[in-house]
Amino acid sequence: MSSFDLTGMRVWVAGHRGMAGSAIVRRLQRESCEIVTAARSELDLLRQADVDAWMADAKIDVVFLAAATVGGILANATRPAEFLYENLAIETNIIHAAWRTGVKKLLFLGSSCIYPRMADQPMREEALLTGALEPTNEWYAIAKIAGIKLCQAFRRQYGCDFVSVMPTNLYGPGDRYDAEGGHVVAALIMKIHAARIANRPTVELWGSGTPRREFLFSEDLADACVFVIKNYSGEMFLNVGTGVDRTILELAQCIASTIGWKGTFTFDPSKPDGTPRKVMDVGRLRALGWSAPTDFETGMKEAYQWYLSNVGGSSALTP
Ligand code: GDP
Repeated sequence: MSSFDLTGMRVWVAGHRGMAGSAIVRRLQRESCEIVTAARSELDLLRQADVDAWMADAKIDVVFLAAATVGGILANATRPAEFLYENLAIETNIIHAAWRTGVKKLLFLGSSCIYPRMADQPMREEALLTGALEPTNEWYAIAKIAGIKLCQAFRRQYGCDFVSVMPTNLYGPGDRYDAEGGHVVAALIMKIHAARIANRPTVELWGSGTPRREFLFSEDLADACVFVIKNYSGEMFLNVGTGVDRTILELAQCIASTIGWKGTFTFDPSKPDGTPRKVMDVGRLRALGWSAPTDFETGMKEAYQWYLSNVGGSSALTP
């Protein structure tokens, strides 16, 4: 039984062009709500006065705060000012304006990188702020921790129904296909696809291939976000993941099999490995009744198909 009804609500998806936000828009199309989006040319989320004015005008009931400056391990490590400043600005502007305009419910999307580098695995929500962060993404992590705390503070002081979810590493339609700045799944789809087209026998992985990561399909994340908005209200944020992890080499082998490329992998130790292991304890969300429906192979096929149709261009082969 839903405790929060989206019927007839004006629902703003902030960050609707990103992988998470666009998946949330697709998922919300199955609900009887009015989806509101704001183009970048219409609203600059870094400007507080603009966000205040836009929200006052737009009469928003519900916010999915999926807007963020994001990137993979190298982008995080090399653009610390952008990752810290822009993410802090986006979330403070939106959360503050949501309070001022009487938004009924807000869901903030964080990240699994909020946890200490050496947190016990799988990582429980209670591990927040119990140890030092992973240095390659601490700027992004600090901003996301501030976002969680903003939701909690506005809930405590003003009674706002603002909740947060912490998604694990994502992949799926709408990922950023940027070999240097993107995340590992998008980067490997690009590299392995290019190797297949050019008949190259090897592909280079950054780091050692041994770090372990958990991967969640973007459409599953969107389903979890809608589930949480409807069924959860509380100060504690919720992990969203599969609870299953694999090494980066195993990930690469799985992507190679999806793409149909039979070469071997080499390693570039000059690139960072990042956290040795990152896998979520998803017990809290599971106890509420949600678990990820899509298996990894199926999700990966969809992600690759999206790449072929939207990015891969005319050189694309049909797998
Ligand atoms: P992280 O989860 O924050 O570390 O972010 P990423 O998704 O960028 O990277 C995950 C892991 O994949 C790291 O250990 C990277 O070193 C490794 N990796 C291997 N090859 C690549 C690549 O081509 N691009 C990226 N972004 N990561 C890679």
